[in-house]
Amino acid sequence: MQGLMMDQPLTISALLTFAEQNHGESEIVTRTVEGPIHRHTYRDAARRSRQLAGALQRLGVRDGDRVGTLAWNTHRHFELYYGVSGMGAVLHTINPRLFPDQIAYIIGHAEDSFLFFDLTFLPLVEQLAPKLRGVRGFVAMTDRAHMPTSALHGLLCYEDLLAAEDGAFAWPKLDENAASSLCYTSGTTGNPKGVVYSHRSTVLHSWAVCMPDAMGLSSTSVILPVVPMFHVNAWGLAYAGPMSGAKLVMPGAGLDGERLCEMLRTEGVTFSAGVPTVWLGMLAYMDAHPEIKLPALKTLLIGGSAMPRAMLEVFETKHGIDALHAWGMTEMSPIGVVGRLLPKHAGWPRERRLAQQAKQGRAVFGVEMKIVDDDNRSLPRDGKAFGNLKVRGPWIARSYFRGEGGEILDKDGWFDTGDVATIDADGYMQITDRSKDVIKSGGEWISSIDLENVAVGFPGVAEACVIGVPHEKWGERPLLLAVCKPDQTIDTTALLAFFDGKVAKWWRPDEALVVKELPHTATGKLLKAKLREQFRAHRLPNTAAR
Ligand code: AMP
Repeated sequence: MQGLMMDQPLTISALLTFAEQNHGESEIVTRTVEGPIHRHTYRDAARRSRQLAGALQRLGVRDGDRVGTLAWNTHRHFELYYGVSGMGAVLHTINPRLFPDQIAYIIGHAEDSFLFFDLTFLPLVEQLAPKLRGVRGFVAMTDRAHMPTSALHGLLCYEDLLAAEDGAFAWPKLDENAASSLCYTSGTTGNPKGVVYSHRSTVLHSWAVCMPDAMGLSSTSVILPVVPMFHVNAWGLAYAGPMSGAKLVMPGAGLDGERLCEMLRTEGVTFSAGVPTVWLGMLAYMDAHPEIKLPALKTLLIGGSAMPRAMLEVFETKHGIDALHAWGMTEMSPIGVVGRLLPKHAGWPRERRLAQQAKQGRAVFGVEMKIVDDDNRSLPRDGKAFGNLKVRGPWIARSYFRGEGGEILDKDGWFDTGDVATIDADGYMQITDRSKDVIKSGGEWISSIDLENVAVGFPGVAEACVIGVPHEKWGERPLLLAVCKPDQTIDTTALLAFFDGKVAKWWRPDEALVVKELPHTATGKLLKAKLREQFRAHRLPNTAAR
C-alpha cells in the first residue's frame, strides 16, 4: 500500500520563495567588494534572483548548463545561488585560492558556459581567459559605475543584466534529483574532483543544519558565514538562511580580525561559522583590542580542520561565546556531525565536559556513520577503538562528476571519508587523523591532531603541525613544527616537556622545531604531504621511547 501524500519536488527556488513570502523583510547585509555596506531583504533578493534567471535565459543558458562563479560572500553571489540553480542550470562555485592552472582545469572540466566574478578577481580572470575557450561570456559582479576597462572578450555588467529584466520569471518545476550545484574538492594530490549536489540533497541538508542540535537557526538568528560560498556552499548557510528566515550578514572580502569584528558587532551577529585559522586571527585581534565586546554573538561553528581545545576554552572563558565543533566534507554537502552537548553533560566536571565538546560531535539525522578496520570489520563504539570512518546518507556523494576516481562506494553503499576516528557510546565522533596523516610508530597509531591540540595550548605557539618522519627503529616518529606568536618566543625543550601527562609517553614528539610559517591548502588545511616531503630526510635526535 502506498502513502497518499503529494509528490512535491524539493527545490532550491522554493527556499527563496518561502523566505520572500514569510520573511520578506529579513535583511541581507553585505560588505561589498566596491567598499560600502549594502542592505537589501529576502524580498529584494527573490526579485533580483528572478531577474538574473531571466537574464541567463536571454543569454542562452539552458537546463543543466554550468555557470561558474569566482566570488566572495556577497548579496550578488547569494542571488546567483538562487538565480542559476532555480532556473535549472548548475552553479559552479570556484575556489579562487586554488592554483591558476587548477582553476583553468576545473572550469574546462565543468564546461562552464559563463563566468561571473568579483572585481577582486579580474586580474586572475584576465590571466586565465586565453585558456578558457569554452566560456561564452564573462560577467563582472558590479554596477555600471564600477565597470573596469578590460580586454576580456564580451565582458558584461551584472547590474546591467538585471536592469534589463522585469523579474516576472517563473521558477520552473524541476526534478528534485536534478543537479543544482557543483563544487570541486581541493585534494592535496591529483586533479580536483567535482561533487555534484542535487536540489533534493541541498534542501534535505538545509533542514538538517537548521535543527536545534545542529546549527540551531531560526528567524531570530543573525548569521555571518565566514566560510566562503566557494567552499561547499558556505556549509549550507546560504540555503539555511532563507529556510529559517534568519538575517544574513555577508563579509565580502573582509575576513581579517578587524573587519570581521566590526560586522559581528554592528550587525548584532548571533551565529557565525568558519575554519579555525580565521578565528585565530580574530582572537589575536580581540587580544590586542580588549575594548571590543560582542554581546550578541552566541555561537561560532568551527570546522574544516580540528578546532584546538585551547580555542574552545578561550572563547568560552574570555568571551562567553560557545565554540561549537563540527565536521564534514565537500562530498557531504558538507555537514556530518555537530558537537552539541547532551543534558547529562551539564553535570560533568569542567575538564571532562570540555574534552567532550572538543570531539567533532554527533551525527545529524540523515547521516549514518561507522568505523571499520583495514579488513572492513566494524569496530566498537567505545570512544577508544579508532578506525576508518565511513558514512552514508541522502546528501553524501555517490560518485564524482564524470565518474572521476571510479567507484567511490563500497558494496553496501558506504563512502570512505579518508578520516580515522573514534565513536563513543553516545555517538560522538572524534577525528584522530586523516588516514594518510596518521603516524605509525612501531605498528601503533599516533594521532597528529591530538598532539597539535596539546601544542597550541603552550604559551607562544600560534599554530602547530605534527608529521611522521621516517625512523629506523619505529618506522615513523612524530616531529612537531610550531609557528610562534608575534613578538614571543618558544622554548622548545619546555614545549616537549609540556606533553608529559597529557598524552601517552611514546606519543610525545621526538623533536620540536620553530618554523616561520606552515603551508596550507586552498581551504586552509595544513599541507602535511608537503611537509612530509620536506622533512623526509630529517634526522630526529635519538630520543624515541616506547
Ligand atoms: P573539505 O572537503 O575540504 O571540506 O575537507 C574535508 C576534510 O576536512 C575531512 O575529511 C577532514 O579530514 C577535515 N575536517 C573537516 N572538519 C574537521 C574537523 N572538525 N576536525 C578535523 N578535521 C576536519
